[in-house]
Amino acid sequence: MDFNDSPAEAAFRAEARAWLAAHAPAHVLTPGEKMPDTEEADRGRAWMRALYAGGWSGLTFPKALGGRGLSGPEAVIFAEEEGKYQLPKGPFTSIGTGMALPVIAKHGSDEQKARFIEATLKGDTTWCQLFSEPAAGSDLAALRTKAVRADDGSGDWIVNGQKVWSSWAHLTDWGILVVRTDPTLPKHKGLTFFVVDMKTPGIETRPIRQISGASEFNETFLTDVRIPDANRLGAEGEGWACCMTVLMGERLGSGAHRSGVEPLIDYAAATPDGHGGTMLDDRAIRQQLAEALAEEQGERFFQARLRTMVSKGENPGALAGMVKLAYAGRYQKTNGLALELRGLAGIAPEAGDTATGDVQYDYIYSTVMRIAGGADEVLRNQIAERVLGMPGEVRMDKNVPFETLKG
Ligand SMILES: Cc1cc2nc3c(=O)[nH]c(=O)nc-3n(C[C@H](O)[C@H](O)[C@H](O)COP(=O)(O)OP(=O)(O)OC[C@H]3O[C@@H](n4cnc5c(N)ncnc54)[C@H](O)[C@@H]3O)c2cc1C
Repeated sequence: MDFNDSPAEAAFRAEARAWLAAHAPAHVLTPGEKMPDTEEADRGRAWMRALYAGGWSGLTFPKALGGRGLSGPEAVIFAEEEGKYQLPKGPFTSIGTGMALPVIAKHGSDEQKARFIEATLKGDTTWCQLFSEPAAGSDLAALRTKAVRADDGSGDWIVNGQKVWSSWAHLTDWGILVVRTDPTLPKHKGLTFFVVDMKTPGIETRPIRQISGASEFNETFLTDVRIPDANRLGAEGEGWACCMTVLMGERLGSGAHRSGVEPLIDYAAATPDGHGGTMLDDRAIRQQLAEALAEEQGERFFQARLRTMVSKGENPGALAGMVKLAYAGRYQKTNGLALELRGLAGIAPEAGDTATGDVQYDYIYSTVMRIAGGADEVLRNQIAERVLGMPGEVRMDKNVPFETLKG
């Protein structure tokens, strides 16, 4: 595989760079800028609108659905260039574009595609993911939130249960939801997938306070929530296949394209070492930075390989977990290194030093990637079993009706 741009890709990169140079600066978040969630969400929508207006939203989505109909490599190139700016494009927008849209595009009806894809690419419709539950995280198929048909003949579904860790559920418009519709089947089989309007009566979101001080995610309670059958995605009982599509998007999207190490090299090169040189003259620091950069490049190339597979219609399966696993560890290490480079100031910044405040925040936050979207240990299990062909974990619950399971 050639990692250099072809002439056409180089032209595309130049076009992307020029557009970003003209439009991104107006949206860039300045260091230390902390704002209420609502404002962050507004800024996310504004950036999505700018992308859409410029023709940079949904690069790989069909033109008929509001995208640009390009192949995978262009999306990677644009993501690399976009990653050079600090843009308001976190989970608030990426859950929609990276997780809801792929599942709608693959499993949705024509009506659902027309209704949601373009609106999401424009930032008019935003999404949260209602998957995890108190007793169903790594073992997602253990979920207990249930849906039954309404007894009024409408075909509607009535949903009851609780979800947890629902990022941005308090501010987003729609949710992707997986529920149990047939407890007499084994746990992966009786699940059904829906899209749900977050304003539906019976949905209550309760924010969870995080160690960082932010409250990005919620406990979400669903009490007699009525969902029309038209909001079902895929067939009844086929919800697990939809979940797999979502999780694939989540893992492929794991920030390998985002540069985390280069700014650290710039910082070290610009920071005096007190002996007439800069931090970069320190061999140990150079070594750490070089290692982190090499790991980051490895992720980038591996991700390019996975995206190429996807663009050819191949399914990377558990391979997608490898890039997420590598990214999560390196991301945490890089953020630790950023703090270390600041020395004592990293622990006790001078008044008004907002840049170090950001570094501290990112360091605390960086643990989440090792849990969100599949914990390290679970991804390792999947890679061991499905990529390396090692013996699987003992699973007593595989072919047993869910309702007979204890716990
Ligand atoms: C920042 C963040 C945002 C999130 N956003 C969302 C969201 O928007 N929507 C949503 O639905 N969920 C969300 N989640 C939830 C996330 O998907 C779960 O946290 C994750 O799947 C792990 O589940 P758990 O927290 O229940 O941990 P558990 O599954 O209870 O795991 C606890 C520990 O046990 C280990 N473990 C579990 N099973 C095994 C095993 N078989 N072998 C070895 N070790 C094992 C895990 O690796 C982990 O270390 C988010 C999580 C985070 C951190």
